[in-house]
Amino acid sequence: MSDGVTGKLADVIVLGAGVVGVSAAYVARQRGLSVILVDRREPASETSYGNAGILSSGSILPLNQPSLWKSLPKYLTNRHHALRWNPVWSARNLDWVVRFLANATPAHTKPRATALRALTGASLKLHREWIVKAGAPERIRETGWLKAWRGDGLAAAKAEQALLAEYGVRSEVLDRQGISALEPNILPVYTVGLLHSETASVDSPGNVVKAYARMYAGLGGEIRQAEIRSIMPDGDGWRTVLSDGEIPARHVVVALGPWSADLLRPLGYRVPLAFERGYHREFKPNPARSLLRPIHDADGAFLMSPMENGIRVTSGVELTARDAPSSYAQLDMVVPLARSVVEFGEAVGEPWRGARPTLPDSLPMIGPAPRHVGLWLAFGHQHIGFTTGPATGAAIAAMISGTQPPFDAAPFSPGRYL
Ligand SMILES: Cc1cc2nc3c(=O)[nH]c(=O)nc-3n(C[C@H](O)[C@H](O)[C@H](O)COP(=O)(O)OP(=O)(O)OC[C@H]3O[C@@H](n4cnc5c(N)ncnc54)[C@H](O)[C@@H]3O)c2cc1C
Repeated sequence: MSDGVTGKLADVIVLGAGVVGVSAAYVARQRGLSVILVDRREPASETSYGNAGILSSGSILPLNQPSLWKSLPKYLTNRHHALRWNPVWSARNLDWVVRFLANATPAHTKPRATALRALTGASLKLHREWIVKAGAPERIRETGWLKAWRGDGLAAAKAEQALLAEYGVRSEVLDRQGISALEPNILPVYTVGLLHSETASVDSPGNVVKAYARMYAGLGGEIRQAEIRSIMPDGDGWRTVLSDGEIPARHVVVALGPWSADLLRPLGYRVPLAFERGYHREFKPNPARSLLRPIHDADGAFLMSPMENGIRVTSGVELTARDAPSSYAQLDMVVPLARSVVEFGEAVGEPWRGARPTLPDSLPMIGPAPRHVGLWLAFGHQHIGFTTGPATGAAIAAMISGTQPPFDAAPFSPGRYL
């Protein structure tokens, strides 16, 4: 194997320091492996920074579930704030669109929900343990997550509750009074609520992942800031080419979130990864009217999360190219709706945009690349990557060490698409 600029052969190089990469690096280091974590930016500066901070026990039914068909007519107009789609992108990626829709059947949904339930359960356990170990326990709120309907949502709330109960996820249906008791500072716009009582949330997902990265560094893990240009097999290991040199390692973990497919193309892997883009904007809170937990406005298709810098309003899904110019139409539509629920002041900073990386079955890839020994894939976590990063990392580190992952990782095998 050739010598890299670092002059040492690492056991593992982890590419991407979002929640997934940081988690993989941390657990691999815990297992005694020498690890280098590389990112062009500080840890958690991209998707793992800008999300809604929900550690969800109940997000096991992906967007492409049977109920999508009922909503499809309203989405086809391309005016709904829940989903906007770029017709040119959709025509060019028709194969992905067709495969995504083909998964929205009861037969395809049950096994995926079962798989995601195992992944989220294992991950929530790790988050609760790590956030304390990382010295950031004050960042987690065990107050659940409220989904709320303005109109007649009782049947929908009960149906969702029954569905979640099938997978052992507890939730509570609330009326207007129940919602007011839970969130005394919001205006009484909601008639029905569903409290996901086992869900937690944090006041800064970026700072939580940064705390995990410090925990990894505290174990002697190395963090390198550089642009990753390519990876190539080298002897019985791998060589990673960076903007400022090369690093040889026995194993390479690709955890580049929405950028993962680019790096794998030269190795002959065509990953069917699409981007469910989303936006957030933060607003100065009114301290006398604080939110106690994230609220998902079911009719408005947006979220409001109390964060350390203010109330973060996140938008629905925009299906388009990862790097297409931003369009704030969806965000602009939902901010007034959020103001009708909770009082808040002027915007803090600029709007943020991120891309949820999504495979046609909405399950991430977690496991070995099918045609290359020592190449591990960990990406495609769609709407729930902040929740599921830790168990994904733990599974990859376990597989590299030749032991069992903390959940059944078979449904997440990269081989299903590659
Ligand atoms: C609006 C929105 C709200 C969300 N809300 C939630 C939520 O409440 N709960 C939840 O669980 N999930 C949520 N998600 C999803 C979650 O944020 C993502 O699934 C998760 O952050 C993905 O993490 P990652 O580590 O895979 O990717 P990322 O965090 O994007 O990390 C990838 C890293 O790779 C680096 N990188 C890429 N290319 C290169 C290169 N060539 N060289 C060097 N570095 C490179 C990037 O700098 C980046 O740091 C939300 C997403 C969005 C967009």
